[in-house]
Amino acid sequence: MSVYVVGHKIPDSDSICGAIALANLKNAIDEPAIAARLGELSPETAFILEKFGFQAPEFKTSYAGEEVFIVDHSELTQAPDDIAEATIVGIVDHHKLGDLTTSTPLECWIRPVGCSNTIIKMMYDFHGVAIPKDIAGIMMCAILSDTVIFKSPTCTTADIKCVEALAKIAGIEDFKELGMDMFKVKSAVQGTPVRDLVMRDFKDFNMNGHLVGIGQLEVIDLSVFDDIKAELATDIAALKAEGGRHSMLLLLTDIMKEGSELLIVSDDATLTERAYGKTTENGRVWLDGVLSRKKQIVPQLQKALA
Ligand code: MG
Ligand code: MG
Ligand code: MG
Repeated sequence: MSVYVVGHKIPDSDSICGAIALANLKNAIDEPAIAARLGELSPETAFILEKFGFQAPEFKTSYAGEEVFIVDHSELTQAPDDIAEATIVGIVDHHKLGDLTTSTPLECWIRPVGCSNTIIKMMYDFHGVAIPKDIAGIMMCAILSDTVIFKSPTCTTADIKCVEALAKIAGIEDFKELGMDMFKVKSAVQGTPVRDLVMRDFKDFNMNGHLVGIGQLEVIDLSVFDDIKAELATDIAALKAEGGRHSMLLLLTDIMKEGSELLIVSDDATLTERAYGKTTENGRVWLDGVLSRKKQIVPQLQKALA
């Protein structure tokens, strides 16, 4: 029986490249595995897979009765809907520990680093398996994406060393240039429906019983949103109502200025003041230095909603 290796809902490059890389490792050590995904590829991920010659993993939403290795999350809200009917054999993740539980022992690789693919590299090293050239390429790109080319406060020296090693294996001389090419692809938002943008990198969190949705768009220049910011704000209000959410946040992250404009609709008018020490104006607030949802947005919000 093959193990399915799958990342979170609304998969990002870490979830997709991680599933491919980990399935490859498992197969190399004679543990049959199949990479899978819970949603469509983002333009950035499509760019990475095309560059290194990979097909998208199998689209599969139901895992009842299957064995599953979870990548890049440990939250029920981000996992397959029927995960309770599957057997979780392992988790590789770099987020806060979520609320997934298991009924059998599992292999857990959870580290406070910038990307799941950095941990997957540790798994290759642990098993003494050489990383194939093209797998190294997609792993490297996933790390550059998650760490915002090392600018994110989540980035560790382990991530930087890992990218340098993977770049060598992949034969990529200027990995920062490739990283910027990826963020250029991410920044091409013109012509994309507003709902698609809000949902592109979106996660729901259960914060002490409050359902909170947080989207993030990372671009090279925030001016790409000038014409559509009002529509984005209207759409997060609609999504809040549709999902019965307590709060909806959308982070518009400027990776060059290194900060984020937060758009928010919430049942709690003082939320940003308590979480981030800043009041919103018309549902908007600039958060200087904020690049990371997992480190600079979620923990503070969770505390404020305790
Ligand atoms: Mg992710
Ligand atoms: Mg990740
Ligand atoms: Mg991210």
